[in-house]
Formats: sequence, structure tokens, C-alpha cells
Amino acid sequence: MPPSSLSQQQVGQAIRQAQQAGLPRLEAELLVLHALGRAPTDRAWLLIHSYDAIDDAAWQRVRAGTARRSAGEPLAYITGHKEFYGLPLAIDARVLDPRDDTETLVDWTLELLAADAPQRIIDLGTGSGAIALALQQARPQWQVHATDRSADALALARHNAERLRLPLQLRQASWLDGVTEKFSAIVSNPPYIALGDAHLPALAHEPLQALVSGADGLDDIRRIVQQAPACLAPGGWLLLEHGYDQAEAVRQLLQSAGFSQVQSRCDLAAIERCSGGCWGGCWGAVAPAGGNP
Ligand code: GLN
Repeated sequence: MPPSSLSQQQVGQAIRQAQQAGLPRLEAELLVLHALGRAPTDRAWLLIHSYDAIDDAAWQRVRAGTARRSAGEPLAYITGHKEFYGLPLAIDARVLDPRDDTETLVDWTLELLAADAPQRIIDLGTGSGAIALALQQARPQWQVHATDRSADALALARHNAERLRLPLQLRQASWLDGVTEKFSAIVSNPPYIALGDAHLPALAHEPLQALVSGADGLDDIRRIVQQAPACLAPGGWLLLEHGYDQAEAVRQLLQSAGFSQVQSRCDLAAIERCSGGCWGGCWGAVAPAGGNP
């Protein structure tokens, strides 16, 4: 198409062409906002400006983004942005694209620990910092720590903490290696996919070390369960995200290691997605009402 006719393209058409390529409406809108240099919160703007002309460069950015998304790249890597627990996070291919399901782990931690007590929490394998930042934002009086083995991931987590002005305590470590303090909760969304799992090809754009954990997907969870007791205060909780079919295995690992009140929590799709347990006496701790299935 000649440049003169390209310049006649409109905002609404750009959204429709992304949808016609297979993107859901929300993703198409976020992509167009990104191409126009507008904030992801500007979706209402799109409605009002549906007939505004969109220049050639922005139109090409929408087309290029649509092609990348259609090839399976997470939208967050294309736009450089993802909202997690209401927080606007910078995201790129150095870290896992944070999933909505991981918000379950944040909710659970907030429910279990007294809000007004001076809790010290640690998030292992923090990636973008999503879980740790969500906890720090919700509970400014808590001291939230986070580790990651990857210097690249830590750089992005630090960038997010600075942008959001949240005082996260970050350090480079593999799980709890070298950590000597005691925490009231250790939380983690570790890699948990088995080597050779059929879902892996669809996740090819994300860092493999954030996804895969040995032959059964449980190598890192086993390591964390083994390390955690030394770093938990009496009555402290270990809360872990895991795969859709791993709840039973993770509960067994926790029970064998001597954790009490071992239980699981479901994600938004009603799949057991997180399991955890309490170390030592849990008399003062609040157990979730009714017990989640
Ligand atoms: N839940 C993610 C997925 O299945 C994987 C996240 C992880 O390994 N921690 O896509």
C-alpha cells in the first residue's frame, strides 16, 4: 500500500486488524496503546479516538507487534509492561511473564500473616519482583526481601522497586543459599515444569531456567522445602506455587519435612496451584477459613 493510503488508517482499524490476526480484544487494545506511546490504562481513550488517524510508523508497530504475539511471544515482552496485583511492572525476556494465577500466592500470604505485626518475608526466585513488590505494596510496614540467582532478573526487580518506590531488600542467591535470617514467611513461584513437558514449546520465549526443574519438575521445590526450616521463625509459613498436577506431591514433601497444617490453595481456574505448611508452633497463626480445596 502506498504511504499516502497508509496514513489514512485509523485507531479502530488498527485494533480490528490485530483482532483479525487472532488477538483477543484486550491484547489488541494494549498493543495499539503501546504503538501509540500511550499508557495501558488509556483504554477509554481508544473508544473516544477510534476514528483518529494513525501514522504509518505506529501502524507498522501494531503490525510488527501482532506478528510477534501471533508467534507466541508474551504480550508483556512486546509492550514491556504487565499489571500484577494492580502494580504496573516493567517486564522483559530476562524474567518470566507474571501470571494472574500467581496472585493466589500473594492473597494467601496476606491472609495468613497478621497485617500489623512487623513481619519479615522473603520471596525466592523473584524474577521481575512481582510477588515481593505486591506484598510490600499491600503491607508497607513489613520488611520484604527477595532473592534471585540471575543477576539479569535482579536488575529488573531493582528497576521495578525503584520505579514503584518500594523498599525491597534484594540479594543474589540461589534459593536460600547463604541466607541466615529467620522469616515469618518464605514464598516462591519456582520453576516447576518437567524436562520434556509438552507445554514447553509454547513457552519458548521465556527463560528456561525460570520454567524447568528436572525430570519431574520438582527439583527446585525439593531444595526449597529442605532449606526452608532453617530460615523460618517458629510458626513461620512456607508457601509455594506449583504445577497443576503437583499439589499432592508438594504436600507430601512438606509433610515429610515436618511441616504442619499442610494445605493447598486453588487458582482462578479452580486448580490446586499453591501448597504450603507451617514450621514449628502455629498457635497464633490464622488458618484460612473453611479450608480451600
Ligand atoms: N505456570 C507457568 C506455566 O505453566 C509456569 C511458571 C513456573 O514454572 N513457575 O506457564
